[in-house]
Amino acid sequence: MKIICIGRNYVDHIRELNNAVPGEPVFFLKPDTALLIRNRPFYYPSFSTDIQYELELVLKINKVGKHIQKQFAMTYCDEIGLGLDMTARDLQENAKKKSLPWAAAKGFDQSAPISRFFPLSRFSDTRNISFHLNLNGSTVQKGNSSLMIYSFEDIISYVSRFMTLRTGDLIYTGTPAGVGPVKIGDVLEGWLEEEKILKCGIK
Ligand code: MG
Repeated sequence: MKIICIGRNYVDHIRELNNAVPGEPVFFLKPDTALLIRNRPFYYPSFSTDIQYELELVLKINKVGKHIQKQFAMTYCDEIGLGLDMTARDLQENAKKKSLPWAAAKGFDQSAPISRFFPLSRFSDTRNISFHLNLNGSTVQKGNSSLMIYSFEDIISYVSRFMTLRTGDLIYTGTPAGVGPVKIGDVLEGWLEEEKILKCGIK
């Protein structure tokens, strides 16, 4: 399986990192070795001094598809969860300056803590799903799928022009504003609507 991550999909987050609003979705990949499941702890890696959290809605693909048209896009995914796009921001900023790829900054081991998944049918409107992240008990990120520049349908359709989507692939759909650094001892907790479904302690 592969993990596809959308960058720059919330205007408020684009502004906080001084990036430009993209004309098309921006995406990158994490390898399957990045997955961190069952609320296991995240071990602070030695190669970075600026690991940051980004909480995102994550879609799970349920069948093979390529060149998917927008009007059929939601038939290719029926589950949603939360994921943390853990980022070595120092490595990423260095790579951006040199116009180099982000693979190390975004794809390192444990860089994709992921919750369990829930049926999308549980939500009356997939364009109005709220989520938030607490850091040590204080809310630091609040998002809603209504605020995404590119909708779930836009993303699935766009990515499938380039890459065949397969059963079990995950799509991180971008993070809202409020990203920030973690330190050893911190606890991150993610809520989907009113339910806490993700916990990640930093060790
Ligand atoms: Mg992200």
